[in-house]
Amino acid sequence: MTTTCLFGLIGYPLTHSFSPGYFARKFAVERIAARYEAFPLLEISGFKALLATQQLCGLNVTIPYKQAVMPLLTEVDAVALAIGAVNCISIKSGRTTGHNTDAAGFEKSLMPLLGRGHKRALVLGTGGAAKAVTYVLDKLNIPFLQVSRTKSKNTVTYDDVDTALIELHKIIINTTPLGMYPNVEAMPPLPYAAVGAGHLLYDLIYNPGETAFLAQGRERGATTKNGIEMLYLQAEESWAIWNS
Ligand code: NAP
Repeated sequence: MTTTCLFGLIGYPLTHSFSPGYFARKFAVERIAARYEAFPLLEISGFKALLATQQLCGLNVTIPYKQAVMPLLTEVDAVALAIGAVNCISIKSGRTTGHNTDAAGFEKSLMPLLGRGHKRALVLGTGGAAKAVTYVLDKLNIPFLQVSRTKSKNTVTYDDVDTALIELHKIIINTTPLGMYPNVEAMPPLPYAAVGAGHLLYDLIYNPGETAFLAQGRERGATTKNGIEMLYLQAEESWAIWNS
């Protein structure tokens, strides 16, 4: 990597994005002569023009383009292909390669919390982040059940989640936006009374630091984890890919 590299983030809207501030601080503290800019794209069709007009070394991708960007890349690595979403793009000699660093961020932040009792997981939501989460659970050989607002062959609904299901699944992962600022009172509708000290409640949300979902777990003695470490880890994983 040259010392004048420009990195960036595509998505829409990008007004409250974490990455530009994170990388600005990182570059200042570590005295790295690089820049990181937000490139809000109203349409993914603007991606090619962005590549043509900016000398970019790498990009992050956020909502709503993690899937839409895939066919526009020279190649997509095996992990991102398996997940079906790209949140990091490396750019070398005009070739664009898609990667998924959400999965690595989730895996590294989850691993230290896993104990012998954490054998099965309930995954709340079926969106982009849930795809990275279920990829990691598969990789770790942790069986999971996905909970969705809509019943399907592979999912149950919130009405199906009873005390027995909560007791059976000692890991509960919230990948829905329920409880995210400013709707901080919201939480997934679960029979929380069945949560106990043996549970691990993981929320991908990082604002607020403790969601109503995590508070339900903490009040019952469960281990709880918010999404901030995953966020930092996926950013550092992107940085490692851009420098590899
Ligand atoms: P997404 O693609 O929009 O998916 C969210 C899923 O949540 C939906 O597919 C939906 O599943 C469910 N959902 C949406 N609205 C809901 C509601 N009102 N009630 C119940 N369920 C609802 O979003 P995403 O990209 O997966 O992101 C989800 C969350 O993860 C966001 O809060 C995001 O900030 C966070 N995230 C954090 C990190 C991190 O590094 N910490 C990384 C990525 C994402 P069903 O239709 O099946 O119910």
